[in-house]
Amino acid sequence: MRIVPRYDLFFIAFYGLLIPGVGILVFGLTGQAVVLPFLPLMLAAYLLLALRKPWRYRRALNSPFPGEWREYLLSHSAYFRGLDQDGRLRFERDARLFLAGVRITGIGGQAAAWQTRLLIAAGAAIMLHGRPDWQPPLADGVTVYPGYSFDRNYRVERGNIAGQAPAGGPLLIAEESLKQGFADAGDGTNVLLHELAHFFDREMRKNGLKLRLRSGGAVAWSEIIAREWGRHDHGKSVLPAYAAQNEVEFFAVASEIFFENPWPLHAAHPELFEILQEFYQQDPRTILNGSELGAGHRQGLPRPASP
Ligand SMILES: [Zn+2]
Repeated sequence: MRIVPRYDLFFIAFYGLLIPGVGILVFGLTGQAVVLPFLPLMLAAYLLLALRKPWRYRRALNSPFPGEWREYLLSHSAYFRGLDQDGRLRFERDARLFLAGVRITGIGGQAAAWQTRLLIAAGAAIMLHGRPDWQPPLADGVTVYPGYSFDRNYRVERGNIAGQAPAGGPLLIAEESLKQGFADAGDGTNVLLHELAHFFDREMRKNGLKLRLRSGGAVAWSEIIAREWGRHDHGKSVLPAYAAQNEVEFFAVASEIFFENPWPLHAAHPELFEILQEFYQQDPRTILNGSELGAGHRQGLPRPASP
């Protein structure tokens, strides 16, 4: 993650130059000097607004990462445990930026516990670890529901929805299911990673992402995943049956396993593994090898995924 994404930097510089440029042009054409004294004020007001978020990020990064947070990550994230020192520092930095930029609240705007917020940031840091240029596509933030689930009418502790990724809305997640996803590291299910995968998928379709695979030239992301879903033998898959629904669920379910238990996925479906590796620009096997998962939980097949 970046404090100021490249395209934002471009627009800030563009408008920063445009404001005095237009003022000087008006003066040149009309000879009216009345506009000139306002230019510095207008420029300052614009920069104050445009740089508000980067300033917040900078402030967050300048404060030390709390030891309590590091301990929590070490005891709750197998991925974080598997990283080397540099990797952990970058992960912590990404988590800080995420928390400074993404609004996470309980229902009705209630405050969410720091442990819950940190786990959500950890999920994003895991998925962005190989893609430092990507930003979390969560403009509407995250809403945390108490308990394990909610129903279609968003009533808490009812129904069986553990998380949801609505288009044009916040990511919704049930707090206890979020924790369970991290507690059962290596089982291949993690509702947060599943829902985040939906957001990344949607964002990259919108951005027209292309991947370059060994088997051919650059192909549009949406085309690659639809083709892979279509030719996947769902009857013999290590993915849960839920993945057969459509290419969108296929990708979200595969992403959970990719980050939690990549070995059986790689062994059974190497082409799908390569696609995910290209999409996320990382191979979690090399990271989880550094944690106890690399030696232990490789055999467990995934349980059915959350909606
Ligand atoms: Zn889904």
